[in-house]
Amino acid sequence: MDHLQPTACGGTDEEDNLWLACRLCNNAKSAQTECRDPITGQLVPLFNPRRQSWSEHFVWSDDGTRILGKTPIGRATIVALQLNNLISVVVRRHWVAAGWHPPDVNSG
Ligand SMILES: [Zn+2]
Repeated sequence: MDHLQPTACGGTDEEDNLWLACRLCNNAKSAQTECRDPITGQLVPLFNPRRQSWSEHFVWSDDGTRILGKTPIGRATIVALQLNNLISVVVRRHWVAAGWHPPDVNSG
C-alpha cells in the first residue's frame, strides 16, 4: 500500500491518498512526489493513479515490455519508479509470450 503523498510530507491514510503498489515500485518511489522529466528537465509531480488517466500519460512499447512516457509527468514517473527496471521487463517478456500482456488499457 503506497501513500501517494507520503505521510512524512503531510499525506493522510485516507483512501484518496492510498494506492496499491508492488514492492519494487513502492521502494523506488520512496518519499518522492515529483521528479524531473528526462527530456525537458522540467520538475513535475509524479503520476497520480487516482486522479489521472494512465493512457493519457503512458503507452506500452510495441513489444509490450516497456512503458513509454507520453508526457513530462509520464516520463518523470517512469524514472522515479524505475518502471522499466530489468526484472519488470523480463517478467513482461514472459507475460507477452503467454499472451497475458500488455493489458488493453483503452477498454477499461
Ligand atoms: Zn510495480
